[in-house]
Amino acid sequence: MRLIFLGPPGAGKGTLALVLMEREKVTHLSSGNLLREAVRRGDPIGREAARCMQSGALVPDRLVTDLVLRRIGEFGKADPFALDGFPRTVEQARVLDEELARAGHAPVDLTVGFQVSPSTMVKRLQGRRVCEACAANYHLERLPPQRPGICDRCGGNLKARPDDRPETVMNRLAVYEKETAPLMDFYRAQGKLRVLSGEAVIEEQYQALLALLKKEGLAG
Ligand code: ADP
Ligand code: ZN
Repeated sequence: MRLIFLGPPGAGKGTLALVLMEREKVTHLSSGNLLREAVRRGDPIGREAARCMQSGALVPDRLVTDLVLRRIGEFGKADPFALDGFPRTVEQARVLDEELARAGHAPVDLTVGFQVSPSTMVKRLQGRRVCEACAANYHLERLPPQRPGICDRCGGNLKARPDDRPETVMNRLAVYEKETAPLMDFYRAQGKLRVLSGEAVIEEQYQALLALLKKEGLAG
């Protein structure tokens, strides 16, 4: 099962991918997490990425593509994965298809497009808290940690993400509409797009995803 989760910030892509990883052993690969790791390392890639991420702009295609494809290259040729946040431009999607084929890897099976209203996105991002140590995601109302401010998985500190500030969020939504939404058509043309609502509570959203994967013959 090789999946792409497509949708605006706050649609629940990362949250669902983590549940899928725990229950179905599908590797969750988040380009945002890879980039934030590079930023923390402070290497040249990280410094260039940080400048773009601060304003909510996209990081240049070549840089993200290298980072993500290098990681995919470490997987087995048919290992299951759920890509979260990548591809985000038509160019990235083309390179992904080409590279999987060139490396003799199994292609992407399905792209799940999450649809969610702007007011939901803003609420989700404002309540989002992320573990500094292991990058697990929480939400003050939707998915609260057992102890406030502390990660259930690793005991790390939970922080709001700097790019979840309201000014940056508006820019990220605009960038999504312009650069990433066209990918829905790209995957629809390949016959690989399925759309799910991103509005429901997490467990309900997960059950809808699982039903879809079963229907497509991708989950048992
Ligand atoms: P969210 O899950 O809220 O959409 P991400 O963690 O996926 O946020 O991304 C955070 C930021 O990292 C983006 O605003 C962008 O600057 C950068 N980024 C992540 N993935 C990509 C990508 N595939 N292409 C370009 N920039 C990216
Ligand atoms: Zn943690």
